[in-house]
Parts: sequence; C-alpha cells; structure tokens
Amino acid sequence: MGKDYYEILGVSRSATADEIKKAYRKLALKYHPDRNPDDKEAEERFKEAAEAYEVLGDAEKRQIYDRYGIDGLRNSGYQGPGDFSDIFSSFSDIFDDLFGFGRARHQRSGPTRGADLRYDLNITFMEAALGTEKEIRITRADTCPGCGGTGAKEGSDPAICHQCGGRGQIVRAQGFFRVSTTCPACRGEGRIISDPCEDCGGAGLREVEKTLSIKIPAGVDHGARMRVSGEGEGGLRHGPPGDLYVFLYVEPHEYFHRDGYDVHLRLPVSMTQAALGCRIEVPTIHGKSELDIPAGTQPGDTLVIEGEGIPRLRGGGRGDMIVEIEVRVPKKLSAKQRELLEEFADLEREADNDEGFLKRLFRMAS
Ligand SMILES: [Zn+2]
Ligand SMILES: [Zn+2]
Repeated sequence: MGKDYYEILGVSRSATADEIKKAYRKLALKYHPDRNPDDKEAEERFKEAAEAYEVLGDAEKRQIYDRYGIDGLRNSGYQGPGDFSDIFSSFSDIFDDLFGFGRARHQRSGPTRGADLRYDLNITFMEAALGTEKEIRITRADTCPGCGGTGAKEGSDPAICHQCGGRGQIVRAQGFFRVSTTCPACRGEGRIISDPCEDCGGAGLREVEKTLSIKIPAGVDHGARMRVSGEGEGGLRHGPPGDLYVFLYVEPHEYFHRDGYDVHLRLPVSMTQAALGCRIEVPTIHGKSELDIPAGTQPGDTLVIEGEGIPRLRGGGRGDMIVEIEVRVPKKLSAKQRELLEEFADLEREADNDEGFLKRLFRMAS
C-alpha cells in the first residue's frame, strides 16, 4: 500500500500532534458508519483515517513511518489495523474526550519503574541504641542485563502488538456502546516479543539473590522504616529500579527500657543502702557509670544520669538514663541481723514523738 497517511488526514508532514488529532476527529465524525449506514465509500474513508491516525497519532510509530515508511512499520512488527476492533480502539481515544468518557490511558509500553520491596529486620535493643551494620539476603527480580528489561533479544525490539495496535486494550463496538477489554494477544502490554531474550526468556526480569549491607544508625526505634534507594525490583524497558524499605523491629531488652531517647533501668538496692545512702556502679548502654544514691532514698524514687541515654538520630547528643530505685526488703534474717533490727525498731518507737500515721488513720476512720 502506497498510502500517504498525511494526505489521508489532510495535514502537513510537520503537523503537530494536536493538529493530527483534530483532523482525525473531523474525519471520524464525518465518515462514522453510524452516520453513513450502508455507505461503503464512507466506511472505507473511515477505516483509512483510523489507520492513518493509528500511526500518526502515536509519536513512536509516526517517527518510524516518517523515516522508513509503511514498510519500516511492518518490519517493526506493526501490521496495521487487521479488524474492526482496532479501528475502534484508536477511535475510542478520540471520542473519549469528545464525549467525556473518562478512560485512563494505558501507558504500558514505556519504561516502567520497578516495584518497591519490603524487608522486615529484627535487631536487638543494643543494636538500635548504638547503631550497627546488618547483612540481609533478599531474593528479588532484577532487570535482565541481557535485554535491559525489554525482554527482547539484543538487537531486536519488541514489536507493537498488531491485535491492539500497541494500546493493550481492545475496544469492541456494540451499537454505540464500547466494551474495552485487555488485549488477549499481548495481555495488555501493547508489545509482542517475537525474538525473546535468551537470558530471561522474554520476561525482562531475572530472579537474583543478593546480599546487602544495611547501615543502621544509632538511635533508631521500633517501627522505623529505612529506605534503601534503588535496591527494589528492577525496572522494565529501561525504567529505574524501585526502592527497598527496611522495617525495623527492635527486640526488647531484659533490663533497659526506652522512652524517647531516655533509657530506664530499675535498680534494686538494699534497705540499708537506701536508708544510709551509697555509691553504686550501674550498667548503662554505653558501659557503666557511678551513681550516688542519697541517704533516705524511697522506693520508686528516680535518679538521673545525664547523657547516658540513646544518641539522638540527627545529632544533638544523647538522652539520659533514668534509674528507678527498687528497695529490697530482706526475706530471711540471721539471728544477729534480727537482733540489730529489733534494736533499731525500739529506737524508732522512742524517736516517734508524733502520734504516727496509723493512729491518725484510725482516728480519722472512726
Ligand atoms: Zn532479558
Ligand atoms: Zn495487544
């Protein structure tokens, strides 16, 4: 066929995409079979215009046509509209905006970014507090290096699906209603790979196992999400890869608890240590620290060791360590301990000139 698509649409070779669309719309309306029943001539013109628009309305096909003509298009796998459904598929695009039928255009044939991946990583309390480096092993689909994700053998390009003309959708006309379905020939991809890449069998992706080293900064908390750029699944047709999201799960510590950037620790001391006061060595997440317990410390009192907490994520020092005092009362006493404590109790009664808490309570309750 020595048809000139520009001539058919009545536009110049330098016409813009918009001019081409307008010209086609005009012709399509004029020669639409619904308006010209039993008019063979009109049907022919309608088909011609649809075919011309199919090519000129698509930047990629138009380029091939401009450079290599219809034969060039054939070689790239484009067969031209084979049946009526193809005509309606290109036709529908025009009428979608003409009649306000909002149909999302399927851009299936361009570069597609790879999918994001998620990896759940368990780390210990200490690893979260102080930072660490973890090796993780993931299985993912990477862009096939043999074809760059096109799925086609090197040197060959995927051909435009002739069933749907590269649209991935087939629109069938039923009266004036149109039913749009995914093209069965290319399964919606718009491209058919006639000469598949040997490395990936035409999928464009290859499953690989990869070990990644993940740097976990000091101070991260449970539920934190880290983005590792470009380590998701590979893109298709030279699209960029997706990202990998590492979700952190921090295992609780047996003794340390976290509150923001502060670390809490319950510290058991003896009755006499609390009463008399003492200096005691306590473990911190950074090692150990000396803590002065003042005389008369009560159970539940909190003491603060400044700067011994968790490093703040974006710099700015560390939180504090909060020590909660737990007073242990001895459960077993030696004879000597008992004697001394009883002596202590006698002295306590003598010193208690006040009527005492219990007496006050009894008086108030009666
Ligand atoms: Zn490949
Ligand atoms: Zn198709």
